Amino acid sequence: MSLPLPTALSPSKVSSFKDCALAFRFSAIDRLPEPPSPWTVKGNLVHRALEQLFWQVPAGQRSLDAGLGQLERAWESARGEPELGALELTPVEMDELRADTERLVRGYFELEDPDRVTAVGVELALEADLGDLRLRGVIDRLDVDPDGRLVVTDYKTGRVPGQAQEQLRLAGVHFYAFLCEQVLGERPARVQLLYLREPMSISTVPSDQSMQGLRQRTSAIWSAIERACRLEDFRPKPSALCEYCNWQAYCPAFGGDPARAVEVLGQPTLV
Ligand code: SF4
Repeated sequence: MSLPLPTALSPSKVSSFKDCALAFRFSAIDRLPEPPSPWTVKGNLVHRALEQLFWQVPAGQRSLDAGLGQLERAWESARGEPELGALELTPVEMDELRADTERLVRGYFELEDPDRVTAVGVELALEADLGDLRLRGVIDRLDVDPDGRLVVTDYKTGRVPGQAQEQLRLAGVHFYAFLCEQVLGERPARVQLLYLREPMSISTVPSDQSMQGLRQRTSAIWSAIERACRLEDFRPKPSALCEYCNWQAYCPAFGGDPARAVEVLGQPTLV
């Protein structure tokens, strides 16, 4: 008996499979519930604040104060949501989390002036086919530059990756360029990653070659996933990421039993 294939691939699923096939299986195939973590809650709050800055505030009024105001609203909404409560933070930890989200929003304003950005979409969900494979991604922000060309922006709230990881991240952004080309009929002139913590921006120009590379790499990963599902063979790949893994207790690399994960964590959730 083989395992069911995921219905689509996204940039995060692609990097999850490359990072650790077993963690990918728990998340994308077994669909085990993933408890919220301080860094996911933080990322969501900052993304929400920047999304609303472009959605709610007209150009010319997108000041730092306006950005911090949107962050305040994001925090107000989050207080009524279960994810924040599930973290069970002490008042001091909550203050630290809050201060860190503010630091990240301030970092954004050091990278660009939002009054000079013409955003045509935020949190834009796009889907396209690559052969019989469905690709899916959410673009943080899609802009039009002064020459009328598309620019994709992806916000990052984590640290700037090392050189090897940077290549992986840039491979991920070509995924967004591919989706734009397929769905909107236009290849973006540029894709930029804004690392809000440092703050630092890394950008790349999609080309025929990078689009071809994206197609080949994604197809190869899909073949590897199909094979792993057919053979039920998803191996652990221990790395620094294990520290943040939700399933360490069920990982053979840490003496756990993967078969116990579904038993203990419950039935798969529909995504
Ligand atoms: S603990 Fe590490 S090796 Fe094990 S599943 Fe998680 S990421 Fe993979």
